Amino acid sequence: MVTVANGTPSGPADGPADVGVPPVAVGSAPRIGVLALQGDVAEHVAALRRVGATPVEVRLPARLDDLDGLIIPGGESTTIGKLLAEWALLAPLRECIAEGLPVWGTCAGAILLAKDVRDALPGQPLLGVLDIAVRRNAFGRQVQSFETVLDVPRLGGAPFPAVFIRAPQIESVGEGVEVLARLPDGTIVAARRGPLLATAFHPELTGDDRFHRFFVAVTRESSADCPPVATR
Ligand code: GLN
Repeated sequence: MVTVANGTPSGPADGPADVGVPPVAVGSAPRIGVLALQGDVAEHVAALRRVGATPVEVRLPARLDDLDGLIIPGGESTTIGKLLAEWALLAPLRECIAEGLPVWGTCAGAILLAKDVRDALPGQPLLGVLDIAVRRNAFGRQVQSFETVLDVPRLGGAPFPAVFIRAPQIESVGEGVEVLARLPDGTIVAARRGPLLATAFHPELTGDDRFHRFFVAVTRESSADCPPVATR
Protein backbone atom coordinates (compact mmCIF):
# COMPACT_ATOMS: atom_id res chain seq x y z
CA MET A 1 0.00 0.00 0.00
CA VAL A 2 1.35 3.34 -1.00
CA THR A 3 0.77 6.42 1.08
CA VAL A 4 1.50 9.97 0.09
CA ALA A 5 2.40 12.55 2.69
CA ASN A 6 0.30 15.64 2.24
CA GLY A 7 1.72 17.93 4.89
CA THR A 8 1.23 21.60 4.18
CA PRO A 9 3.74 23.97 5.74
CA SER A 10 2.59 26.74 7.99
CA GLY A 11 1.90 29.95 6.11
CA PRO A 12 4.01 33.08 5.68
CA ALA A 13 2.33 34.61 8.75
CA ASP A 14 4.32 32.15 10.87
CA GLY A 15 7.58 33.41 9.41
CA PRO A 16 9.98 31.41 7.29
CA ALA A 17 9.37 27.71 7.70
CA ASP A 18 12.31 26.94 5.48
CA VAL A 19 14.10 24.63 7.86
CA GLY A 20 14.73 21.75 5.48
CA VAL A 21 17.91 20.25 4.20
CA PRO A 22 20.78 22.74 4.45
CA PRO A 23 22.02 23.98 1.07
CA VAL A 24 25.53 22.59 1.36
CA ALA A 25 27.04 21.15 -1.79
CA VAL A 26 29.21 18.12 -1.31
CA GLY A 27 31.96 17.86 -3.92
CA SER A 28 30.40 18.17 -7.33
CA ALA A 29 27.01 16.89 -6.19
CA PRO A 30 24.30 18.80 -8.03
CA ARG A 31 22.04 20.89 -5.81
CA ILE A 32 18.53 19.84 -6.61
CA GLY A 33 15.61 21.67 -5.08
CA VAL A 34 12.38 19.99 -4.06
CA LEU A 35 9.45 22.38 -3.95
CA ALA A 36 8.30 21.79 -0.40
CA LEU A 37 4.92 23.52 -0.19
CA GLN A 38 2.78 20.38 -0.22
CA GLY A 39 2.98 16.79 -1.44
CA ASP A 40 5.49 13.96 -1.20
CA VAL A 41 8.60 16.03 -0.53
CA ALA A 42 10.43 13.68 1.86
CA GLU A 43 10.36 10.80 -0.64
CA HIS A 44 12.03 12.94 -3.33
CA VAL A 45 14.60 14.23 -0.85
CA ALA A 46 15.48 10.65 0.14
CA ALA A 47 15.73 9.51 -3.50
CA LEU A 48 17.97 12.46 -4.38
CA ARG A 49 20.29 11.59 -1.49
CA ARG A 50 20.43 7.98 -2.67
CA VAL A 51 21.56 9.05 -6.15
CA GLY A 52 24.26 11.35 -4.77
CA ALA A 53 22.59 14.74 -5.29
CA THR A 54 22.28 17.42 -2.62
CA PRO A 55 18.58 18.03 -1.94
CA VAL A 56 17.40 21.54 -1.05
CA GLU A 57 13.87 22.04 0.24
CA VAL A 58 12.41 25.13 -1.43
CA ARG A 59 9.71 27.18 0.25
CA LEU A 60 11.05 30.70 -0.23
CA PRO A 61 12.17 32.48 -3.42
CA ALA A 62 15.73 32.86 -2.07
CA ARG A 63 16.08 29.08 -1.98
CA LEU A 64 15.87 29.06 -5.80
CA ASP A 65 19.34 30.62 -5.91
CA ASP A 66 22.10 28.44 -7.28
CA LEU A 67 20.01 25.37 -7.87
CA ASP A 68 21.04 22.96 -10.60
CA GLY A 69 17.51 21.63 -10.91
CA LEU A 70 14.14 21.53 -9.18
CA ILE A 71 11.54 18.83 -8.58
CA ILE A 72 7.88 19.77 -8.22
CA PRO A 73 6.35 16.84 -6.35
CA GLY A 74 2.96 15.25 -6.59
CA GLY A 75 0.22 16.33 -4.25
CA GLU A 76 -2.63 18.55 -5.32
CA SER A 77 -1.90 20.96 -8.15
CA THR A 78 -4.58 23.43 -7.06
CA THR A 79 -3.06 23.64 -3.57
CA ILE A 80 0.55 23.78 -4.76
CA GLY A 81 -0.37 26.47 -7.31
CA LYS A 82 -2.17 28.52 -4.69
CA LEU A 83 0.79 28.25 -2.31
CA LEU A 84 3.23 29.13 -5.13
CA ALA A 85 1.27 32.33 -5.63
CA GLU A 86 0.96 33.05 -1.90
CA TRP A 87 4.66 32.48 -1.24
CA ALA A 88 5.65 34.72 -4.19
CA LEU A 89 7.33 31.85 -5.97
CA LEU A 90 5.42 31.82 -9.27
CA ALA A 91 7.19 34.69 -11.02
CA PRO A 92 10.77 33.85 -9.87
CA LEU A 93 10.24 30.22 -10.76
CA ARG A 94 9.02 31.16 -14.25
CA GLU A 95 12.11 33.36 -14.63
CA CYS A 96 14.42 30.54 -13.57
CA ILE A 97 12.75 28.19 -16.04
CA ALA A 98 13.14 30.82 -18.78
CA GLU A 99 16.86 30.88 -17.89
CA GLY A 100 16.98 27.13 -18.48
CA LEU A 101 16.61 25.72 -14.97
CA PRO A 102 15.88 21.98 -15.30
CA VAL A 103 12.56 21.16 -13.67
CA TRP A 104 10.88 17.79 -13.20
CA GLY A 105 7.20 17.71 -12.34
CA THR A 106 5.70 14.49 -10.98
CA CYS A 107 1.92 14.12 -11.17
CA ALA A 108 0.59 17.44 -9.75
CA GLY A 109 4.02 18.86 -10.67
CA ALA A 110 3.49 17.78 -14.29
CA ILE A 111 0.14 19.60 -14.26
CA LEU A 112 1.83 22.77 -13.00
CA LEU A 113 4.41 22.59 -15.80
CA ALA A 114 1.93 21.97 -18.64
CA LYS A 115 0.94 24.75 -21.04
CA ASP A 116 -2.51 23.27 -21.59
CA VAL A 117 -4.35 21.95 -18.52
CA ARG A 118 -7.77 20.41 -19.09
CA ASP A 119 -10.23 20.17 -16.20
CA ALA A 120 -8.21 22.76 -14.28
CA LEU A 121 -10.14 24.72 -11.68
CA PRO A 122 -11.03 28.21 -12.91
CA GLY A 123 -8.11 30.53 -12.11
CA GLN A 124 -5.89 27.69 -10.87
CA PRO A 125 -2.32 29.14 -10.77
CA LEU A 126 -0.04 27.26 -13.17
CA LEU A 127 3.49 27.69 -14.51
CA GLY A 128 2.49 26.84 -18.10
CA VAL A 129 5.99 26.26 -19.50
CA LEU A 130 6.05 22.78 -21.07
CA ASP A 131 4.30 22.24 -24.38
CA ILE A 132 2.09 19.34 -23.35
CA ALA A 133 -1.67 19.05 -22.84
CA VAL A 134 -2.67 17.24 -19.65
CA ARG A 135 -6.05 16.28 -18.26
CA ARG A 136 -6.34 16.36 -14.48
CA ASN A 137 -7.70 13.27 -12.72
CA ALA A 138 -8.04 11.55 -16.10
CA PHE A 139 -7.97 8.04 -14.63
CA GLY A 140 -10.86 8.77 -12.27
CA ARG A 141 -11.09 9.11 -8.55
CA GLN A 142 -8.61 8.28 -5.77
CA VAL A 143 -9.90 4.67 -5.53
CA GLN A 144 -9.04 4.16 -9.18
CA SER A 145 -5.37 4.78 -8.43
CA PHE A 146 -3.19 1.90 -9.61
CA GLU A 147 0.31 0.51 -9.96
CA THR A 148 1.80 -0.93 -13.12
CA VAL A 149 5.13 -1.31 -14.90
CA LEU A 150 6.19 0.80 -17.86
CA ASP A 151 8.67 0.40 -20.64
CA VAL A 152 10.91 3.44 -20.51
CA PRO A 153 13.53 2.92 -23.22
CA ARG A 154 15.56 5.95 -22.06
CA LEU A 155 16.13 4.33 -18.66
CA GLY A 156 17.24 0.98 -20.08
CA GLY A 157 16.95 -2.24 -18.16
CA ALA A 158 13.85 -3.66 -16.56
CA PRO A 159 10.37 -2.11 -16.86
CA PHE A 160 9.86 0.78 -14.46
CA PRO A 161 7.38 0.39 -11.57
CA ALA A 162 4.89 3.25 -11.76
CA VAL A 163 2.38 4.39 -9.15
CA PHE A 164 -0.57 6.45 -10.45
CA ILE A 165 -2.49 8.37 -7.77
CA ARG A 166 -5.41 10.36 -9.15
CA ALA A 167 -3.01 11.05 -11.94
CA PRO A 168 -3.26 13.21 -15.03
CA GLN A 169 -2.87 11.87 -18.55
CA ILE A 170 -0.71 13.63 -21.10
CA GLU A 171 -3.18 13.94 -23.97
CA SER A 172 -0.77 15.41 -26.50
CA VAL A 173 2.73 16.77 -26.78
CA GLY A 174 3.99 19.68 -28.86
CA GLU A 175 6.82 19.78 -31.34
CA GLY A 176 10.18 18.87 -29.93
CA VAL A 177 8.72 17.10 -26.90
CA GLU A 178 10.03 13.58 -26.47
CA VAL A 179 7.57 10.95 -25.26
CA LEU A 180 9.41 8.87 -22.65
CA ALA A 181 6.70 6.39 -21.64
CA ARG A 182 3.22 5.25 -22.56
CA LEU A 183 0.71 2.86 -21.03
CA PRO A 184 -0.07 -0.22 -23.12
CA ASP A 185 -3.14 1.58 -24.55
CA GLY A 186 -0.92 4.36 -25.89
CA THR A 187 -1.65 6.97 -23.20
CA ILE A 188 1.40 9.19 -22.74
CA VAL A 189 2.58 9.27 -19.12
CA ALA A 190 6.10 10.74 -19.32
CA ALA A 191 7.56 13.42 -21.57
CA ARG A 192 10.59 15.66 -21.81
CA ARG A 193 11.62 18.76 -23.66
CA GLY A 194 15.21 19.76 -23.01
CA PRO A 195 15.52 20.54 -19.30
CA LEU A 196 11.81 20.05 -18.56
CA LEU A 197 10.55 16.62 -17.55
CA ALA A 198 7.01 15.52 -16.70
CA THR A 199 5.83 12.19 -15.29
CA ALA A 200 2.17 11.49 -14.55
CA PHE A 201 3.22 8.93 -11.93
CA HIS A 202 5.36 8.90 -8.77
CA PRO A 203 8.88 7.42 -9.21
CA GLU A 204 9.81 8.58 -5.68
CA LEU A 205 7.43 6.03 -4.15
CA THR A 206 8.90 2.90 -5.66
CA GLY A 207 12.52 2.69 -4.50
CA ASP A 208 13.60 2.51 -8.16
CA ASP A 209 15.84 5.54 -8.51
CA ARG A 210 16.43 5.45 -12.26
CA PHE A 211 14.20 8.47 -12.98
CA HIS A 212 15.99 10.48 -10.30
CA ARG A 213 19.31 9.47 -11.83
CA PHE A 214 17.99 10.45 -15.25
CA PHE A 215 16.95 13.88 -13.94
CA VAL A 216 20.37 14.39 -12.35
CA ALA A 217 21.89 13.60 -15.77
CA VAL A 218 19.53 16.17 -17.35
CA THR A 219 20.72 18.79 -14.84
CA ARG A 220 24.34 18.01 -15.69
CA GLU A 221 23.60 18.69 -19.38
CA SER A 222 22.31 22.15 -18.54
CA SER A 223 24.68 24.97 -17.70
CA ALA A 224 21.89 27.36 -16.74
CA ASP A 225 21.59 28.33 -13.10
CA CYS A 226 18.79 30.20 -11.51
CA PRO A 227 19.91 33.83 -11.25
CA PRO A 228 20.35 35.04 -7.65
CA VAL A 229 17.13 36.42 -6.26
CA ALA A 230 18.78 39.79 -5.55
CA THR A 231 19.29 40.40 -9.27
CA ARG A 232 15.67 39.81 -10.13
N1 GLN B 1 -5.09 14.97 -8.86
C1 GLN B 1 -4.01 15.80 -8.46
C2 GLN B 1 -4.09 17.16 -9.12
O1 GLN B 1 -4.89 17.45 -9.93
C3 GLN B 1 -2.66 15.18 -8.75
C4 GLN B 1 -2.47 13.94 -7.93
C5 GLN B 1 -1.05 13.63 -7.58
O2 GLN B 1 -0.15 14.45 -7.67
N2 GLN B 1 -0.85 12.42 -7.12
O3 GLN B 1 -3.35 17.99 -8.83
